[in-house]
Amino acid sequence: PTIYVPIDSSAIALGANEVAEKIASQAQARGIEIKLIRNGSRGMFWLEPMVEVATDKGRIAFGPIEVEDVAGLFEADFIHAGSHPKSLGLTEEIPFLKNQERLTFMRVGITEPTSLDDYLAHEGYVGLRHAAAMAAADVVQQVLDSGLRGRGGAAFPTGIKWKTVLNAPADQKYVVCNADEGDSGTFSDRMVMENDPFMLIEGMTIAGLAVGATRGFIYVRSEYPHAIAALNKAIALANQHGYLGKNICGFGHDFELEVRKAAGSYVCGEETALLESIEGRRGIVRAKPPLPAIEGLFGKPTVINNVISLAAVPLILARGAEFYKNCGMGRSRGTLPIQLAGNVKQGGLVEKAFGVTLRDLLDNYAGGTASGRPIRAVQVGGPLGAYMPESQFDTPIDYEAFAAIGATVGHGGIVVFDDTVDMAKQARYAMEFCAAESCGKCTPCRIGSTRGVETVDKIIANQDRVQQVELLRDLCDVMVSGSLCAMGSLTPNPVLSALNYFPNDFNR
Ligand code: SF4
Repeated sequence: PTIYVPIDSSAIALGANEVAEKIASQAQARGIEIKLIRNGSRGMFWLEPMVEVATDKGRIAFGPIEVEDVAGLFEADFIHAGSHPKSLGLTEEIPFLKNQERLTFMRVGITEPTSLDDYLAHEGYVGLRHAAAMAAADVVQQVLDSGLRGRGGAAFPTGIKWKTVLNAPADQKYVVCNADEGDSGTFSDRMVMENDPFMLIEGMTIAGLAVGATRGFIYVRSEYPHAIAALNKAIALANQHGYLGKNICGFGHDFELEVRKAAGSYVCGEETALLESIEGRRGIVRAKPPLPAIEGLFGKPTVINNVISLAAVPLILARGAEFYKNCGMGRSRGTLPIQLAGNVKQGGLVEKAFGVTLRDLLDNYAGGTASGRPIRAVQVGGPLGAYMPESQFDTPIDYEAFAAIGATVGHGGIVVFDDTVDMAKQARYAMEFCAAESCGKCTPCRIGSTRGVETVDKIIANQDRVQQVELLRDLCDVMVSGSLCAMGSLTPNPVLSALNYFPNDFNR
């Protein structure tokens, strides 16, 4: 029998390595021959470590499994689907998973992450083969037609970026992947890199041949050692088997790829600061123009995309732009891997077509709060996203619908708070975060955030509250209009939404 124990860092943090060892030693002690595969995580973190057993009907899941459960699992004959109190039935029938529309995450949790054979057996490198047989401009057109927009937060059409780079004449062009996933409550980039690294590598290779770039860099946050290890292993295998390097698969294209470890700065997730960092300088935001697509890494035309944007590309090329474009709503096409975090009963990864409402996600996936108390606010889109009150929970996940109410979809992270949250403290935290992470280039962000902390403190202490609230709103205005990048211009989002939707918390 084949047994699966996830190798994703969420599962490892919960004891998956020890569980895997125990399963191996118990099987040996009992004289049972098993095949133990370290698969990716299905993204249901409250069930991790989730052990699966292959059966004729599909995989059967057990979880969460602790080391102490393993002997009991064998006694219950779990390898032949014997009943056990921690049996979850067929994995694919677990409602959290069953009701998703997994495209980018279609292999995640199913395959062995760094097995090239497994990747090839599950539609891997089909997209690259199609792309290699097409003219570069047609590959770009496919990405344009798919409606794919930047999943890192800015939602800029990926195809337009690529077209600009394709049309920029240069002796050298680059593809850079922004894997500096620093938003609170986000982990979809990490899951892709740890659980399906070849997909990202393939997406970057397709980007390279589409725009004429022969070198690529993946800029991964240093807090992701497992992702870095998985990527390096997969890159070595891809090189060894002709999927990277010179004359890829005999198609006549060259593409070299390397991983760069980031140094723990939030603002290096801003694309121009990221380029500075790869070039070996301090991560300070560059003024635009010039756009990175014209003058990017080392002054050369550069495609710079988030992990999820690039990871969506192989499937678009494998199945066609129409296939991807078919789901979604309005101008938000395809799917978004949404991450449920904070005070939730069921935290994890939910990939849905755009259009799913926040309420659906909170009720039917997150299952409410872990504390059992009512949800009071959710922050969507990381630390610079607005706090949304219950009255906005019917908003569909759609870039335009969110923008219309002053919220941001961002990278799809949702952090949930129950009714014990103090929104004045959350507003203070937003300013404090900006003060800590500001690159220091412009005054409204560098100084404004520190003054913002002081002003919120005065409001909380009830010193000239009315004037201080007015001052805080003024300060937010200046930060929005006078900051060079999103760090300074979006920090007012959480501050003002807390002030507007939860005024009582500022008035004690
Ligand atoms: Fe730097 Fe802040 Fe200005 Fe962005 S807004 S460039 S982080 S100082």
